[in-house]
Amino acid sequence: MLFPYTYVPHSMEKMQWHINFIFFQVWCRAKGKDYDIEVLFADNEELCEIITELHFSQLKGAEFFLTGLQQVFEDFKKLEDTDIEILKRRYCANNCVDLLCANDSSVKPATYKDVKKISVDLSQHLEGFFKNLYSQSFLSLVSISKRIGEIDNHYAVFMGKNVSGKCPFCGINDVKGNYHTKREAYDHYLPKGTYPFNSINFRNLAPACHECNSSYKLVQDPLYNAKDPLLAQTGGRRKSFYPYQANKYTVEFKISLNSHDWTNIQPTDIELYTGPNEFREELDTWLDVYGIEERYKAKCCAENDGKYWIEQVLDECQNDGKTPEQIFNTLARQAKLKPYAEANFLKSSFLQACNKKGLFTLPYII
Ligand SMILES: [Zn+2]
Repeated sequence: MLFPYTYVPHSMEKMQWHINFIFFQVWCRAKGKDYDIEVLFADNEELCEIITELHFSQLKGAEFFLTGLQQVFEDFKKLEDTDIEILKRRYCANNCVDLLCANDSSVKPATYKDVKKISVDLSQHLEGFFKNLYSQSFLSLVSISKRIGEIDNHYAVFMGKNVSGKCPFCGINDVKGNYHTKREAYDHYLPKGTYPFNSINFRNLAPACHECNSSYKLVQDPLYNAKDPLLAQTGGRRKSFYPYQANKYTVEFKISLNSHDWTNIQPTDIELYTGPNEFREELDTWLDVYGIEERYKAKCCAENDGKYWIEQVLDECQNDGKTPEQIFNTLARQAKLKPYAEANFLKSSFLQACNKKGLFTLPYII
């Protein structure tokens, strides 16, 4: 991604703490016990109240939660101690999103398929539980929202800190901020259909523009490359940018153009290079998961983007008496100051490529 978000603490994190309690204190200690809510949740008063209220309310949005709690409890009672220890390690690993993104050797991500090898029933029941945890029908239940807060409030606080107004995954689309009444959807960076245990962990949830989330990334897994046959042979594990990475970095762009006909530039006429190589693996994952090359090339070819950028330079040269160099100097300064305003990072690289190809030198000026 082009730049990381700043992580924003919020009361909604409480749900993850409750899930930690459920996993370690209730499920992992299920052996030899009866499913008695008052006894099992005695050390977590708030969670006990939530479960009791949901139980008596019999609301539809709570069914999966109450059923899943007990089903997984019964599944854990049948597990060997060694399998419980494995699951504990996998729970911790799946919630260390930063280390998983860095492909740190101390953590190994666990999928539902991995859990299936231990118990088919457990995998199925965990899937039903964790996939539904982050759902509007559950989080908006009064028993939940009055205690942990609301997702719309989380978004408002989040966007109060992350004010760029641009999607960090593509840098070319807007994300709705606090001047809008609507909001963007949160993407499960590690897909909730693949990985158990982290569907309500806000370190794994990041607002993204609709195009990034729903047209390009979809359920793609940033941790594994399943498309490249060479990588797939070795498991395809790869590094990925972590959405809340604390270390700042700058993605470098260079474009080269293989056409003189600026009125009819095609994506195949454009070559896009990214850097620095220090982040080669993270950059390749990002390019792959978000379809970046296709989208940036399409933007450079678009009538009201790339072609308009060229027309602007030609217009300012012909009518304002400016030279291309003067225009590029201004643009380079603006791109450094505000790289994501008006896609300056892409615009400046593209126009430099056009200039190098001689598009702003006679006889190519039209
Ligand atoms: Zn985007």
